[in-house]
Amino acid sequence: MENTTVLWCSMSLVVGAVAGSAIAKWILCLDGQQPFLPRLKCIGCGESFRAWRRLPVVGYFAARGRCQCGHRLDSSIPVVEVVTMTLFAAFTLAYLKFGCQTVAEVRPDWQWYYGRLVFHLILIGLLIVATGTDLRDYFIPDQVTMSGTVLALVAAFGTGDFQMMHVWIDWSHEVPGLNGPYIPDWIKHHRHLHGLANSLAGAVLGGGSIWLLGRLTKIVLGEYSVGVGDATLMLMVGAFVGWQPVVFVLCLAPLCAIAVGLLVWMVVGRPYISFGPYLSIATLIVLFSWTALWVPNRLIFSHWPTMLGLALGTLTVLLLLLLGLRGYRSIPARRV
Ligand SMILES: [Zn+2]
Repeated sequence: MENTTVLWCSMSLVVGAVAGSAIAKWILCLDGQQPFLPRLKCIGCGESFRAWRRLPVVGYFAARGRCQCGHRLDSSIPVVEVVTMTLFAAFTLAYLKFGCQTVAEVRPDWQWYYGRLVFHLILIGLLIVATGTDLRDYFIPDQVTMSGTVLALVAAFGTGDFQMMHVWIDWSHEVPGLNGPYIPDWIKHHRHLHGLANSLAGAVLGGGSIWLLGRLTKIVLGEYSVGVGDATLMLMVGAFVGWQPVVFVLCLAPLCAIAVGLLVWMVVGRPYISFGPYLSIATLIVLFSWTALWVPNRLIFSHWPTMLGLALGTLTVLLLLLLGLRGYRSIPARRV
């Protein structure tokens, strides 16, 4: 492996550990257990933890999961820290070593190639926060999704080079000898505006489709089966990744819900009914395997009747899935 890749992977492991610590604390703070600043405090005695006890992962296990007063620390802390570290390092490796987002159409300048890596690591961090709060409280805070959306829009506009795919590619205008599609000139001439357009298109499609799904479940089932939190989550994801990856997220999420849902059902005895975590898992799959998803399917995106069919098909599957899960809503809510 190249030295740069090793360096970046080690850095993302360390950054992931520190970020994981902050994310674990942010989740507890959103849960109402902790003030976010200044330090992690024990709920039992109110004391701040000493420096070594605040070390990511190591601190928790060295203290045997307890405060000096004997009060148990929240067991989500080491889990969130390990998950964040692992995902950060794995994504950096997949991105740099295996080119998981390298496609012929998009060739960012080298500094924005690394910039986009950091941009997507931030998205992964925000997804962990959203999933954490959703698993704890069936709730995705606007504080996370709205600040993420604004950050993504500003960064996409400011750099003009963070897109995974251009907002539009002219497949009908193929240039002989050119390996790949013709990329319209205006994208090259107005890259900041293009970055913003790409991010906005993703946000509108992501947030809009989940909002529409919510309205449809209200009409068909008589209740909202997806929440506002799910719509704002996809608003944020769309702003980060653009509209074509959102299409893949929306197609993969029901599959994740079926696969993971069945697994949880077998283990716990009832399905997990919140949709947010499945959207997060689907987003991770798209981030980690964009090249593999895009290359064999790219022609779909130049053919609007197929796109329309795909959209209607996905909506139908989602509605059927939510219909199937409706019976379980009558069971009193308890944490899974
Ligand atoms: Zn204590």
